[in-house]
Amino acid sequence: MSAAVKYLRSLLLLELLAGLALTLKHFFRPSITIQFPEEQTPMSNRFRGLHALRRYPNGEERCIACKLCEAVCPALAITIESEERDDGTRRTSRYDIDLSKCIYCGYCEEACPVDSIVMTREIQYHAEERSELLYDKAKLLAQGDALEEQIAADRALDAPYR
Ligand code: SF4
Ligand code: SF4
Repeated sequence: MSAAVKYLRSLLLLELLAGLALTLKHFFRPSITIQFPEEQTPMSNRFRGLHALRRYPNGEERCIACKLCEAVCPALAITIESEERDDGTRRTSRYDIDLSKCIYCGYCEEACPVDSIVMTREIQYHAEERSELLYDKAKLLAQGDALEEQIAADRALDAPYR
């Protein structure tokens, strides 16, 4: 664009008029503002929200302490310690996720062979201190217990693709 055309466009305020026309075009369209939290946008069943540890229907923890999730986590956010139980099975004695490190990539749930660590649809959580973002095994299991119905339904939707 030559300097003369640029000058003419600026003199006639063409950019400004184009901007105002765009604003006017959207002015009469329906509003897309969502009144959160009363209203919520649709959420995918694969949404990667707060983590949870699941149990089997008989109450047994799914996690077998294989540590694949810990190994695959790119943010080194997961810490696991394990021990052998009296019945010879291996279970975690410690399972921590530091959510202040987590980047919500979903690798942990992808790596888990028994569908134990999962990411839920839960998004309404916060912390006022960093320590509150350290989720230990008890908190993660409680999260899983509370949301199991939703978690199972979400995984059932994905069953044909697994
Ligand atoms: S979502 Fe990603 S970063 Fe977060 S704990 Fe899982 S593997 Fe680690
Ligand atoms: S949550 Fe899954 S991947 Fe992680 S240690 Fe337990 S069984 Fe292994």
